[in-house]
Amino acid sequence: MPSSEADKLVLQQQQWIERTLMRMQQQAPAVDAGLPAYIELRAIAEQVHVVQVAMQKKPLIWNQDILQLSVSNNESCSDEAGVAELLRDWLKVYAKERLPDLLKKVALDMQVDYRGVSVRLQKARWGSCSMQRNISLNAKLLLLPPKIVRYVLVHELSHLKHMNHSASFWQYVEQFEPDYRKSRAELRQLSMALPAWLYR
Ligand SMILES: [Zn+2]
Repeated sequence: MPSSEADKLVLQQQQWIERTLMRMQQQAPAVDAGLPAYIELRAIAEQVHVVQVAMQKKPLIWNQDILQLSVSNNESCSDEAGVAELLRDWLKVYAKERLPDLLKKVALDMQVDYRGVSVRLQKARWGSCSMQRNISLNAKLLLLPPKIVRYVLVHELSHLKHMNHSASFWQYVEQFEPDYRKSRAELRQLSMALPAWLYR
């Protein structure tokens, strides 16, 4: 086909291409706004798809494994920070639903009793244990592999016996997590490779 004719064909198709692209953008995963197409919740082996929907009434609709985020047609880029905040709020809500059960299981394993558990979205700490025997957990734990989450839970629950990081504390941790040194190192690595929407 001569190139002039090819050009003509492309021109004819242009409208269709533009129309289709626009439709695809409306249905596409949220990659174009620098947001994740999906969120992997490794701790509980679940994957949540993130989809941008134009002209949605609520800012965020959570339907099983799909998170529908509303974006205004023209401002999806400037909206990025707001959307990231929605994702963080959602993560906190879901972590509150799921992390306490994980903690309960590990505590049963270790035969220790804690008083209560709270879940927060924290910058630097993965968890803590108060003198009142309350455990606080970081919602971001949902994003980590189960083995590492278990290490964090064992670590915090071990503080019920040893309120410090003494040699006896680590010995106690080792009873339940023989691999704790490896997990600790891996946790440090993983902390530096978390998705950007957690910080935006
Ligand atoms: Zn500690």
